[in-house]
Amino acid sequence: MNMPGRNMIGEQPPHPSRNAGTRTERSGRAPNLAVSFEFFPPRQAEAVPAFWEAAADLAALSPRFVSVTYGAGGSTRDQTRDLVREIQARCSVPAAAHLTCVGGARAEIDAIADAYWQAGIHRIVALRGDPAGGIGAGYQPLADGYAYADSLVEGLARLHPFDISVAAYPETHPQAADSQADLDHLKRKVDAGATRAITQFFFDTDCFKRFLDRTARAGINVPIVPGILPIRNFAKVLAMADGCGTHIPAELRARFDALGEDAEGRRQLAFETALKQCEALRRTGVDHFHFYTLNQADLARDICAELGLVSPLEGYR
Ligand SMILES: Cc1cc2nc3c(=O)[nH]c(=O)nc-3n(C[C@H](O)[C@H](O)[C@H](O)COP(=O)(O)OP(=O)(O)OC[C@H]3O[C@@H](n4cnc5c(N)ncnc54)[C@H](O)[C@@H]3O)c2cc1C
Repeated sequence: MNMPGRNMIGEQPPHPSRNAGTRTERSGRAPNLAVSFEFFPPRQAEAVPAFWEAAADLAALSPRFVSVTYGAGGSTRDQTRDLVREIQARCSVPAAAHLTCVGGARAEIDAIADAYWQAGIHRIVALRGDPAGGIGAGYQPLADGYAYADSLVEGLARLHPFDISVAAYPETHPQAADSQADLDHLKRKVDAGATRAITQFFFDTDCFKRFLDRTARAGINVPIVPGILPIRNFAKVLAMADGCGTHIPAELRARFDALGEDAEGRRQLAFETALKQCEALRRTGVDHFHFYTLNQADLARDICAELGLVSPLEGYR
């Protein structure tokens, strides 16, 4: 594996779970566990070296794929394209490009997708996307565009046999008429050719389990991969949750509030919260987690280590 710009063995920072001792054997890969990691194109040039460090760190865990988001309104089109290709080449992991209906005519989107295919990028996360103003802004399909994600999936599947992920909402998408309409829509995306659905982040594991039951009853028979968001900045997560309709349990809020400005305490709570969530989901049979990394590796890596997934390099430490 080509690790850009750093020596994994010599320069790795202290690993909290290593110091604390783990409940898992460091055998390199936990049985029946796959992970994927989501990144966004760094906004500033100064953030680029840290981005590659994080990507290399997580690529060492041999994820099923690493995905790169497409900015609201299609604002990162070129950066996403360049980064997806570079990640696959530099980190030797399958990369998935997020692609949205927003802001592009069908022909334009088809051309982007075709270029991905030709470049060896065969995984797409296909989304309606949010307008430039964010999820709260009104959405108006373009007359010559793909209106919703189901038609985008259909278009992509017609072009090439892509591996297509779509979004799913255990707590219902905020703009859906109701939860049944949202579920019906997810079914249309799957019927159009989606390989799996990745969920919006959530903290209510029971809600996810109910959602799994509902998808099964609806005949949605692709994997529903939980999207895990380790809480790096609680205030920001509150704002994001508000926008996308994710419920924040009162107890979680109280525990973060009680920690005030204690950065290490907050980090530990973030780690424990996400780990507990993953462990509870594992017990229900989940075998693939998608981590929203926010371009930082440490929490996702430490959680993976506790789940028994470590880099082969670390396995020999
Ligand atoms: C895993 C994941 C990754 C994401 N990555 C990105 C990203 O890279 N870039 C980005 O901009 N956003 C991203 N998002 C956010 C996503 O774009 C927003 O949540 C967006 O508001 C909906 O996208 P969708 O693909 O779920 O839309 P859709 O599946 O098209 O659904 C959107 C809404 O429209 C409703 N709907 C569907 N069809 C119809 C119809 N025919 N008539 C009326 N209503 C209909 C649905 O019920 C839902 O409420 C991501 C979300 C997830 C969960």
